[in-house]
Amino acid sequence: MALERLRTDVLILGSGGAGLLAALHAHAADPALAIAIATKGLIGKCGCTRMVQGGYNVAVHKGDSVERHFMDTIEGGKWLPDQDLAWTLVTKAIERIHELENEIGCFFDRNPDGTLHGKAFAGQTFDRTVHKGDLTGIEIISRLMEQVWARPGIRRLEEHRAVALIPSKDGGSIAGVLFIDIRTGAFRFVEAQAVLLAAGGGPTMYRYHTPSGDKSMDGLAMALRAGLPLRDMEMVQFHPTGLFAGADTRMTGTVLEEGLRGVGGYLLNGAMQRFMGNYDPHLERATRDVVSRAMYAEMRAGRTTPQGGLYIKMGHLGAENVRKQFKGMVERCADCGFDLAGGLVEVVPTAHYFMGGVVCKVDTSTEWPGLFVAGEDASGMHGANRLGGNGVANSTVFGGIAGDTMPGWIKVNPGHRPPDESAIEAEMARALHPFARNGGDLNGLRERLLDAMWDHVGVMRDRAGLDRGLAALDEIEAELLATGLPDDGRIFNLTWHDWLNLRSLVETSRVIALAARVRENSRGAHFREDFPEPGDLASSTFTVARQQGGKTEIASEPVRFTIVRPGETLLKDRAAV
Ligand SMILES: Cc1cc2nc3c(=O)[nH]c(=O)nc-3n(C[C@H](O)[C@H](O)[C@H](O)COP(=O)(O)OP(=O)(O)OC[C@H]3O[C@@H](n4cnc5c(N)ncnc54)[C@H](O)[C@@H]3O)c2cc1C
Repeated sequence: MALERLRTDVLILGSGGAGLLAALHAHAADPALAIAIATKGLIGKCGCTRMVQGGYNVAVHKGDSVERHFMDTIEGGKWLPDQDLAWTLVTKAIERIHELENEIGCFFDRNPDGTLHGKAFAGQTFDRTVHKGDLTGIEIISRLMEQVWARPGIRRLEEHRAVALIPSKDGGSIAGVLFIDIRTGAFRFVEAQAVLLAAGGGPTMYRYHTPSGDKSMDGLAMALRAGLPLRDMEMVQFHPTGLFAGADTRMTGTVLEEGLRGVGGYLLNGAMQRFMGNYDPHLERATRDVVSRAMYAEMRAGRTTPQGGLYIKMGHLGAENVRKQFKGMVERCADCGFDLAGGLVEVVPTAHYFMGGVVCKVDTSTEWPGLFVAGEDASGMHGANRLGGNGVANSTVFGGIAGDTMPGWIKVNPGHRPPDESAIEAEMARALHPFARNGGDLNGLRERLLDAMWDHVGVMRDRAGLDRGLAALDEIEAELLATGLPDDGRIFNLTWHDWLNLRSLVETSRVIALAARVRENSRGAHFREDFPEPGDLASSTFTVARQQGGKTEIASEPVRFTIVRPGETLLKDRAAV
């Protein structure tokens, strides 16, 4: 089979906050290194970092502290985070926000005295979310993109879809990555000394979801097939306020940011009752998992709008004030026929973020020598629930760390390693699978996947539902493998990529359901109606999924409380928590 070959020293998969920061840091650490960013979309235009609305959590404000940010992250994550990773996240976020402003050129909103403005975000004990209006991601990703463009030494492989992580011939490390050049349909193998996986997770297998359309959990599907351990795979975050513009439009699910609830927005059911008081004393400022569950319960009880959603109401905060604070959001709602500033907007919970991912160390290294992971493809920082504002902090903090680490790793472990050629051949054949077939209904299968995950592996779960979900996934996968493509060739064949997207989604969906079946308690984003209690915090465990010989095993491992134990706090004044 025809295969083009390229060689680089550092290969970065993905051009979100993690990928771009990694490229800039690796280049700064050793400008002589050949660095390539390969991404499924166009740099600056793809991925979720660009879509960040609310902002970036960082403890830079008077009265706040890294200890407080850390405790919010651990308690929000229901004591499941890896504490060393969480500590790195909160401490390095300070360095990174200064770097973003002073070196990258971002400009965030400020108070009249010139200090950074901090927004209120749910589940946090301090207003620490730094932002640029409600379009923070565009500011961050545009400035990062300009910095990458300004460094011709960083090679850009755009519209390149990674399909497999290729091991070295001796199987001991990573040798490179196999791609499809989406524009030509050609296969390209990029050999590299170090590879960063930063393809950004993205739970787009649910009926309502927020992530960008280029994300289909490819990074985690590739890691799974490579036999790498994946942690916390049952932890899918649902954001409470996805726009509900009707059941048949892709606009439904688009996120309306957390700051709306943070500043005092109310949620109402179809009978115009403010219902959060029936579920949690923190009302709309409870964490995302709690609010999403309350909304799901109202919907399931039939207390919905005529269309089947619920409402968010902002008008009581003053229409002018809302327009000023949430300009982008008001405009987007108006585009869909809703008056956010003065009226009611229909909302539903929507799959937003994936806490699970590849097991990694603080320096972003993984079990595979030469393979590093950062951003939403990595796991352990958030445990059972990611705080709003900790997502983009996570991708930029650990992307930068990966960029610092890889050049050093290459110095100690120099040289390209010959790839396992039989693995490349097998992966090309796997990607071409649908071309040898006719018929099938790809779109229908996708709809069935969205429903199966929403109904059985979603906001609320139980054993019988998870079993039904797994059975549905088996059927969908069997039909997908029998589904072919029209003979349109490989050049910019987006139906081919839809097929490949669906395969990644089905494979990772199965692991979500399997891990959810193993966790027989309820923590954060994972809620089992048949096991509603959180279990003993002091003996918390996390799940680790691993695929071997085509079979996925799920193990449970104890959480190591390396910094603080349940019942303790790092804050001197416990009342301040
Ligand atoms: C609508 C929305 C709003 C959000 N708001 C906030 C917020 O206010 N605060 C916050 O902290 N977090 C927020 N988040 C979460 C945040 O965006 C993510 O956590 C973070 O940006 C992820 O960064 P990343 O670099 O890991 O991935 P991304 O930025 O998603 O980048 C992933 C990259 O990988 C590429 N890719 C994917 N598959 C492949 C493949 N097969 N081959 C090659 N490349 C591939 C993509 O094209 C993309 O370039 C929001 C998310 C969404 C969807």
